[in-house]
Amino acid sequence: MSSISFDITIKAVILDIEGTVAPITFVKDVLFPYFLRAIPDTLSPLTYPIQSSSTNTIEAILSNFPSEVTESKESTFKHIEYLVKNDIKDSTLKSLQGFVWTAGYESGEIKAPLYDDAIAALHRWNEEGKKIFIYSSGSVKAQKLLFQYVNVNDKSVDFNGLLSGYFDITTSGYKFETTSYVNIIKDIQFSPEESLFLSDNVKEVSAALEAGLNSLIVVREGNAPLSEEDLKVSKTITSFDQISI
Ligand SMILES: [Mg+2]
Repeated sequence: MSSISFDITIKAVILDIEGTVAPITFVKDVLFPYFLRAIPDTLSPLTYPIQSSSTNTIEAILSNFPSEVTESKESTFKHIEYLVKNDIKDSTLKSLQGFVWTAGYESGEIKAPLYDDAIAALHRWNEEGKKIFIYSSGSVKAQKLLFQYVNVNDKSVDFNGLLSGYFDITTSGYKFETTSYVNIIKDIQFSPEESLFLSDNVKEVSAALEAGLNSLIVVREGNAPLSEEDLKVSKTITSFDQISI
């Protein structure tokens, strides 16, 4: 297997999550369906109409929806289903999802499916003294949750101890923008030349390269196909085993 190396030793690796260390389908095929399945049982024990003064955590979250929505269990469910099906970004929905997914991870029903080569590389790089960071559009809170419950031989294993920092769009900016990578470089205190960003998204790779970082395109099963133009942006890898840093 040919190995990709760099001009100088890489000291910091910045990783995207979906399509890079975990299947791109995890959120769509696992997290979203889990949430919708869990919602009826989550809503059943609540008192309707939902009161904003409620001390119940779920009722307190739901009370941020318009009051006509939370009149009954049925109307609440309909509203949530509508937001999910139409992929509407809603902060109350996000809080509710965070709550439901946390419970799912804690009960062992959800485990994060990291690729074997990514798991091996996280251990290897850590032993070699490299610093590993995460940059994902999912919130830092969601990132930590995912890495807390990684599926290793059907057991949840906490990988957060191998990670040195987390970045999302609120800490650093949008992933297609060069300035976001400049911001991250400032925060991690490594030079762009000794940093490597890995992502399945060519626009993200392009922005990182523009900021002076090393960057490779990660090709995984189920990822969006790459065009001829995409392939000109950077080299591709199908496994982290192909990198020698
Ligand atoms: Mg990705």
